[in-house]
Amino acid sequence: MATPGLFISGTDTDVGKTAVATAIVRALVAGGRRVGVYKPVASGFSSAADERSDAWRLWDAAGRRLAPEKVCPQSFAAPIAPPAAARAEGRRVDEPLMRTGLEAWLSISDIVVVEGAGGLFSPISETMLVVDLARAFAFPLVVVDAARLGAIGRTLAAVRAARAEGLKVAAVVLSHTVPGGDDDEPFADRSIAREAAAEIAARISLPVTILDHGASVMPHGIDWAAVSSA
Ligand SMILES: [Mg+2]
Repeated sequence: MATPGLFISGTDTDVGKTAVATAIVRALVAGGRRVGVYKPVASGFSSAADERSDAWRLWDAAGRRLAPEKVCPQSFAAPIAPPAAARAEGRRVDEPLMRTGLEAWLSISDIVVVEGAGGLFSPISETMLVVDLARAFAFPLVVVDAARLGAIGRTLAAVRAARAEGLKVAAVVLSHTVPGGDDDEPFADRSIAREAAAEIAARISLPVTILDHGASVMPHGIDWAAVSSA
């Protein structure tokens, strides 16, 4: 039987995908699952062993199985889109490796959590957008957006676009990417974020949850293993 999984995608870059991915991974690990973690390509770090990298954080959340380089088999240093970061090093994103790199995790895991790069329609290689890789993996999407003004519109656009591409969306997470209360952003008021989450849920008939800034594990409410195979 195929190993179930989730593909963590964002409405944009810097919306809190890694925080959400690691929090989902920890929730699954706490539930006794063997979790595989995968980042097909990363930019902004020259090595998956860098403790600040997405790959290292995913590896740590999953209980340090295998090695960080198995989490992300290709990293490029420039903090720009992966194909551009690769070109800056005279290299190219290895498209077959993006797909085959996942295989190390499938046979040893009850579920895999894959984190995309950038937003759903961001370029991930010379020829592919993130959405193309998501389709290839065929895992339900978790759409992540930052809990800040505009979340309803950004989230509905991303979910509708994903569905128009034939992808299944499992859930939406609004991620507080900055500590609350230290600016005049309306979402610093937690009730605004809760109202936005409720409106999104009503409009797309999906579970929507909120991850607080600094929270390391998802709040109870969504069974992530169940939505991965639904
Ligand atoms: Mg990330």
